[in-house]
Amino acid sequence: MPEKEFACTQCNSPEGRCSCTKYCTLCGNLEGTRLVEDGYYYCGECREACDYKTQDEMS
Ligand SMILES: [Zn+2]
Ligand SMILES: [Zn+2]
Repeated sequence: MPEKEFACTQCNSPEGRCSCTKYCTLCGNLEGTRLVEDGYYYCGECREACDYKTQDEMS
């Protein structure tokens, strides 16, 4: 089964092609934000706190 590719909810593009402003959905941080499964960006701290995984952490 092919892995589901995470896509940005704003532009429907995967992280590599997304050109939206990638601020953390929870705290507004712009540093180190990554797309997670729900289609939003989160900074490292918030990903850790909420146990969100980026695409490359899933496999
Ligand atoms: Zn986007
Ligand atoms: Zn954050």
